[in-house]
Amino acid sequence: MITDYERLAAMNKDHLWHPFTQMKDYNNSDPLIIERGEGIMLYDVQGRAYYDGFSSVWLNVHGHNVPELNQAITEQLGRVAHSTLLGMSNVPAIELAEKLVGVSPEGLNKVFYSDSGATGVEIAIKMAFQYWHNKGIRGKTKFITMNQAYHGDTVGAVSVGAIPLYHDVFRPMLFPSHVIPYPYSYRHDGGEAGALEDTLTALRHLLETRADEIAALIVEPIVQGASGIIVMPPGCLSQMANLCRKYGVLLIADEVATGFGRTGAMFACDLEDVSPDLMVIGKGLTGGYLPVAATLATDEVYEAFYADYQEQKTFFHGHSFTGNPLGCAVALASLKLMEERNMIEGVRAKASFVERKLAALKERPHVGEIRQKGLMIGIELVRDKISRETFDWAERIGVRTSLRARELGMLTRPLGNVIVFIPPLVSSEAELDAMTDILEESIIHVTEGGSVT
Ligand SMILES: *Cc1c(COP(=O)(O)O)cnc(C)c1O
Repeated sequence: MITDYERLAAMNKDHLWHPFTQMKDYNNSDPLIIERGEGIMLYDVQGRAYYDGFSSVWLNVHGHNVPELNQAITEQLGRVAHSTLLGMSNVPAIELAEKLVGVSPEGLNKVFYSDSGATGVEIAIKMAFQYWHNKGIRGKTKFITMNQAYHGDTVGAVSVGAIPLYHDVFRPMLFPSHVIPYPYSYRHDGGEAGALEDTLTALRHLLETRADEIAALIVEPIVQGASGIIVMPPGCLSQMANLCRKYGVLLIADEVATGFGRTGAMFACDLEDVSPDLMVIGKGLTGGYLPVAATLATDEVYEAFYADYQEQKTFFHGHSFTGNPLGCAVALASLKLMEERNMIEGVRAKASFVERKLAALKERPHVGEIRQKGLMIGIELVRDKISRETFDWAERIGVRTSLRARELGMLTRPLGNVIVFIPPLVSSEAELDAMTDILEESIIHVTEGGSVT
């Protein structure tokens, strides 16, 4: 008699190919199979409960199986599940666009929908490219990105990506981008000031010499996510934005990870009063419920495409599920809940609670740095705290720590030697307390080979 779990695990092994996963390793382990969620807990088919300590890869806002969000979807489902935005419109897509313009940085007045962060980025870079073309300015065709940037996995998004492990194999098929240093203060000899200086100098130099070849700069504002939750020095983003403006280069803010309260502001750009020309949102947009993303543009960008049909300035781009009514309905409900629950303020209070709670962890011998902005936390583990020597990647210290956390009842996924803690914004202090306990205990267990006393 085989159990339900064994049956599913066998089919999973036979037929599923998982993202960002070496299947040979994965198939040698017992797969975790989630069956349901409630609040910030996920439950597997064997009935075990886990805290969702990484918001199901940085998406979840209000928890799982939320009555208000479920209801928004069911109500919309009773009307229509999907109809196209090609040449016609639908009710939730219109209402959400108006809402998004209201909550986003000044100047972003137009909303172009898609279905994932990567497609949203793809749209932003194509818009930036065609913007200059439509204005009759030739030659502004290149992009600037930052070292270790991650903007999604489609070919265009990978072309402005700069994580060698993910991107190098594809290099021959990509368009080349200029890469400037990202201010990684912890690993810069000059610390925060030196890192900031290097970034701004490189950007200024590039713009002084090549602005006439450059369409846009794309940046993960304030927090570079996939590279290891690396927080910019204060003032970096606003100074980069000023340089772009000065030299006539568009600024694309990729807020896919940072948007919707994660950093303690609605958008990370708000933290430095930056108004980008294009802004990409996804992940938390629907509360992490359904795949909807969007690219927001200024009137200035939009108007470069607004012309008589014969002028051929149309933006010829779209996806089958662009503006999906179910997704837009749940996004509206999610934004409503955020407002009703005063969530952004709540995030700031919860962030200081977590910061205080993790203070002791900083003293441990293998905790190199704890980086935090709002409820985005990355803990960089090192072999040697003084020299900042890294653990060898083959030791898989991050993976082992996350596995230990899972045994203790919390899910997360590391970024190399950086342990990620990005809890759902709805998490209570008691839940954050329990999750940070697990985090601490797993780090100490794996790096110090013992249990916390
Ligand atoms: C996750 C992410 C993306 C890609 O979003 P997908 O929905 O996975 O395609 C793009 N940019 C940033 C900053 C992200 O964190």
